Amino acid sequence: AKASGRNTHRFFAEAMNVEAVAHLSIRNGLRRALERGEFLIHYQPQISLDTGKVMGAEALVRWNHPERGMIPPGSFIPIAEDSGLIVPIGEWVLREACRQAAQWSAAGLPLTVAVNLSARQLQRPDLADTVVAALADSGLDPLFLELELTESMLIENTDVVLANIRKVKALGVQLSIDDFGTGYSNLAYIGKLAVDKLKIDRSFILDLCRNHDSARITAAVIQMAHSLNLTAVAEGVEDDDTVAHLRHLRCDVAQGYHFGRPGPADAVERMARHANSV
Ligand code: C2E
Ligand code: CA
Ligand code: CA
Ligand code: CA
Repeated sequence: AKASGRNTHRFFAEAMNVEAVAHLSIRNGLRRALERGEFLIHYQPQISLDTGKVMGAEALVRWNHPERGMIPPGSFIPIAEDSGLIVPIGEWVLREACRQAAQWSAAGLPLTVAVNLSARQLQRPDLADTVVAALADSGLDPLFLELELTESMLIENTDVVLANIRKVKALGVQLSIDDFGTGYSNLAYIGKLAVDKLKIDRSFILDLCRNHDSARITAAVIQMAHSLNLTAVAEGVEDDDTVAHLRHLRCDVAQGYHFGRPGPADAVERMARHANSV
């Protein structure tokens, strides 16, 4: 038993070491990735449930690693957040997404682009300046930029965070609360911060048609959104039954594999040209 205990111990030690090495190699790689332009953005369409039109797209970053291939954000965003590299990476995503949305607008496709923000970015006193610069350099109308925040980022609502939210709102940028329903929300902030959209977390949407609790929570969030004059967005919509259920609940916008997986900007553009018949 002792020997096997020791083996187990050694196994964990080695596993942790492997993980630490992987962590370190990702951290070093991230710096180089920014310099060498290894990041790219995939866009996932957001569809109006009223009209079937493409309203916009969420920008989701990917790392096209020279040896490891495409690395999903879940494998490097947390490390980028720990090391602070999320700030320059996030700025790159913001600039690139604004450039893309401006190009869509110029091509006669007025689509909103939604960009995810990290807590680190929201805590920086120069966030609004960064947003102003990204808008100015791209020529994008602020109306077509949406910033996604999570509830947990608003828990520590420091003066800097509140000032940032007020400043970007004053620019005319839209704000949404991402993964809504999973955090410890203090619902009072929603009215105070003048957000525009609630994105219902995909964990509720994925089993909407099978789980009564998910269905009740989704219905309640949509009702609450509407009573506050906010847009309700469902993410993780994977099938027809879920679409029908969300229509029944009067959800406004849907995003998910059913409509389109995250992909190159062209795919969203093609879909919008077809669905919006422009
Ligand atoms: P998120 O903001 O909740 O983004 C939605 C995630 O759900 C995406 O994963 C998307 O591919 C996935 N998804 C979309 N539709 C479906 C569906 O129908 N079913 C299922 N099962 N999943 C669906 P992805 O691209 O791997 O991104 C994961 C997370 O990484 C994002 O979650 C976001 O928190 C973070 N992330 C991505 N890009 C950025 C970025 O530029 N900055 C920051 N700070 N975080 C980012
Ligand atoms: Ca998001
Ligand atoms: Ca989300
Ligand atoms: Ca509606």
